[in-house]
Amino acid sequence: MNNFSSSQLIDRFGRKVDYLRISVTDRCDFRCLYCMAEEMTFLPRAQILTLEEIYTISQAFTELGVKKIRVTGGEPLVRKDVLTLLNKIGTNLALNELVLTTNGSHLVQMATALKKAKVKRINISLDTLNITKFKAITRTGDLQQVLAGIEKAKQVGFERIKINAVILKNRNHTEVCDLVQFAVDQAIDISFIEEMPLGIINHHNRAETYYSSDLIKKDLASHFSLIPSIEKTGGPANYYNVAATKTRVGFISPHSANFCHTCNRVRLTVEGRLLLCLGNEHSVDLKHVIRANPGDMNYLKQVIVEAMKIKPKQHEFNLNEHPVILRHMNTTGG
Ligand code: SAM
Ligand code: SF4
Repeated sequence: MNNFSSSQLIDRFGRKVDYLRISVTDRCDFRCLYCMAEEMTFLPRAQILTLEEIYTISQAFTELGVKKIRVTGGEPLVRKDVLTLLNKIGTNLALNELVLTTNGSHLVQMATALKKAKVKRINISLDTLNITKFKAITRTGDLQQVLAGIEKAKQVGFERIKINAVILKNRNHTEVCDLVQFAVDQAIDISFIEEMPLGIINHHNRAETYYSSDLIKKDLASHFSLIPSIEKTGGPANYYNVAATKTRVGFISPHSANFCHTCNRVRLTVEGRLLLCLGNEHSVDLKHVIRANPGDMNYLKQVIVEAMKIKPKQHEFNLNEHPVILRHMNTTGG
């Protein structure tokens, strides 16, 4: 069997993959209406990767040149013993960055331990500062708990904290200025995300609630001076600096500004599927690979290298069609 050295993850279009996003659970204490249906059936334990399996796969990726790992979900902080996993990944010297995406509901209790586990940066989802709207969007979330979580994360001192806000017309689109003002007051960053058609949801018609990044920029222009930033974070967002503040505003625009040509990432789903693109189903079953070939790191790495050949050129989202992608964001590593 071949030995695979680092920096081997290059796809057919010459894109280098050095970023892995891992969904460690499909479960969540919220039921955000753009992410999940109200009634969700979660996967049985035997079907999801164990923490040891996730660690092994993350190790294979770093040996192949991956420099950044984001742990996400579902809500990553509801997975039992997730801190054990983060502590292990955090000691991997080949990695430049271990980062996390969370809904913030467990940060008061866990932020200190996350920092100790060498989580560098943290993204916290927050779509509104209005308590009633927050309840309506998350269905089960508690705004005060999330705000307290953001405060705790600031005290602990992560390198960077960023708010993620999915904006829906007639749900929270009137909140964009308040959200940026909040980020400015907290001296943190914020990204606005256009909703993606992943999985069947039963609350709204995604075409009707679409609110583009350009509309958000227009709304912000009357209150803030946004200066285009040349800084790249290795993500799909286009960033602007809010003049005379420490805050950057990002726009993740899968519909209005395709970013696929710069894609540097792949995702590991909670079931152990290596997903080559968020908006396509091209994948490889790594759970099968590691369960059928226990301890064979070289074979695992070979499969991962081969998988790069099926990374699609770009996503094709169409909000007017029934979702083609049936998996919800929570299983995917969004
Ligand atoms: N539970 C954590 C959270 O909410 O931050 C991590 C997982 S969540 C799936 C990751 C990100 O995906 C969140 O910022 C969420 O707002 C976003 N998201 C979920 N469903 C989405 C969708 N259909 N379109 C765009 N973004 C979505
Ligand atoms: Fe849970 Fe995050 Fe999905 Fe909301 S977006 S339901 S917090 S996984």
